[in-house]
Amino acid sequence: MLRSSHSGPHVPDVIVLATRNRGKIKEIRQVLQGMPIAVESLDEYPHVPEPEETGETFAENAAQKAMYYARATGKWCLADDSGLVVDALGGRPGVHSARYAAADAPPGSGREVIDAANNAKLLKALDNVADAQRTARFVCCLALSDGMQVMLETCDSVEGVIARQPSGQGGFGYDPLFHIPTLGKTTAELPPEQKNSLSHRGKALRKFQAMLHEFIASRSTGL
Ligand code: IMP
Repeated sequence: MLRSSHSGPHVPDVIVLATRNRGKIKEIRQVLQGMPIAVESLDEYPHVPEPEETGETFAENAAQKAMYYARATGKWCLADDSGLVVDALGGRPGVHSARYAAADAPPGSGREVIDAANNAKLLKALDNVADAQRTARFVCCLALSDGMQVMLETCDSVEGVIARQPSGQGGFGYDPLFHIPTLGKTTAELPPEQKNSLSHRGKALRKFQAMLHEFIASRSTGL
């Protein structure tokens, strides 16, 4: 049990990952492996409806989701908000990455159909954009909430360029188009461990992991 002995807020012995995205769950679990905290997903809370994402930044959305799901589940929740920022598109799809091409996919479409529609729309939007101007970054913000407040938050990013055609079968979302020039590969062509070692989410999660260790240590000693 990792509960603190002083009268301040407890530290969590369970954290619920506030996402139903299988790709994200897999990546987050992989990085949090070895932490002395049980990790649940929203699969254990099938009846909790999804909140609306109304924030204008990834950080705002992560905080909103963490608070919402912590209140709904009664457990500490770790939320991730992430997406693709494309310079030539003035930062779009940005916080709208998940539903960028929502209008092009039939209602009720599964994740793969939506991802394919998003990627097709992105390629079309960049059709006339020269290679040098196809710069982009994946951004990930994480927030941990106990339902009363946001206890920890952090963001990170990874730089790349948008390829002219999809390559690779791994990852999810925009991975087949997100090319990292120094590797000569898209993030969909990387084995999961390699993607985690350099991705926006992997980097943000490692920062989060260090913050969580420090948080637990300070709560346990009452500092
Ligand atoms: P969220 O669930 O609102 O955070 O949506 C994030 C969206 O951004 C996803 O549905 C993907 O389209 C995209 N995205 C975020 N992270 C990644 C990644 O690691 N690879 C590919 N696409 C990503």
